[in-house]
Amino acid sequence: TQAPVNVTVTGAAGQIGYALLFRIASGQLLGPDTPVKLRLLEIPQAVKAAEGTALELEDGAFPLLAGIDIFDDAKQAFAGANVALLVGARPRTKGMERADLLEANGGIFKPQGEAINAGAADDIRVLVVGNPANTNALIAQSHAPDVPAERFTAMTRLDHNRAVAQLAKKLNAPVGEITKLTIWGNHSASQYPDIFHAEVGGRNAAEAVNDEKWLAEEFIPRVAKRGAEIIEARGASSAASAANAAIDHIHDWVLGTPEGDWTSMAVPSDGSYGVPEGLISSFPVRCRDGKYEIVQGLEINEFSRTRIDASVAELAEEREAVKKLGLI
Ligand code: NDP
Repeated sequence: TQAPVNVTVTGAAGQIGYALLFRIASGQLLGPDTPVKLRLLEIPQAVKAAEGTALELEDGAFPLLAGIDIFDDAKQAFAGANVALLVGARPRTKGMERADLLEANGGIFKPQGEAINAGAADDIRVLVVGNPANTNALIAQSHAPDVPAERFTAMTRLDHNRAVAQLAKKLNAPVGEITKLTIWGNHSASQYPDIFHAEVGGRNAAEAVNDEKWLAEEFIPRVAKRGAEIIEARGASSAASAANAAIDHIHDWVLGTPEGDWTSMAVPSDGSYGVPEGLISSFPVRCRDGKYEIVQGLEINEFSRTRIDASVAELAEEREAVKKLGLI
């Protein structure tokens, strides 16, 4: 059998962590043939709770789970990591200014970037889930100069999955028939879910919908504000669906996107589609042989252009803000 893959998870004692760790241990992250070793990072006050989760993981008797270690030190937690899921972050609390939010997260993602640079495995792949995810990924990446930049990604897969589900509902089609949907830009309310290249059972989805009012006034805001809808209904933010999306993101990155389809990942821009180089922005990506590439050559209509540009402008502002704060 294969040697275990080291998976580091930060914020392991949180809501998303609780849903995520069991899925990883069961083999859903890297497939049924790959044993995993979990390395959990928490802040000192939450280490005890993480230990509790570790007891439950043990009680799962997962054949693929080769070990669990718990740390409150980033250098140790990322040592030898092959996959890093950066979930723990400082959430925005009432009355908090954006600069305070970015600064607080700088205090988390700068040392984590340094720790990844110092000790992660050569094949390290990083997914940032904790918000503001795109800019947190940028901060971590800028402190890991020895790691190829493209290994730092941020999660827009939940937005992607939400959009697929809403589109399938509208068209009365099974979700499995929806392909080639794209989330562009920032994982924030400005994100743009694009159905113009999407297909339903091989037919163009925008043509099948044929309802621009629904697209602009229902679909796009519904996907962008789905998080708030969940909080309203559940009394807590989405956790299992976020964990599910994190699993999908790494699974597809490592094991490939299905033939004839693509997915959405926030990745460092190479300038494609007019997105300034280096911004960590969501694109349509295909994955094969453990690598991803931005899908090229899609025609972007006026409707899409305006919305992509607005979300990318927000990312550029966030980059300026963290630059001013000396975080990158
Ligand atoms: P959650 O596990 O619910 O969320 C963690 C992060 O994921 C938040 O930043 C959250 O952003 C983000 N997120 C991204 N997408 C989504 C989504 N679609 N739905 C919900 N959340 C999303 O938070 P908890 O407070 O339960 O747990 C956080 C844990 O992280 C705590 O145990 C804390 O101790 C730990 N932590 C660890 C650190 C470390 O390891 N160094 C540093 C900081 C915290 P948003 O808030 O915007 O919803």
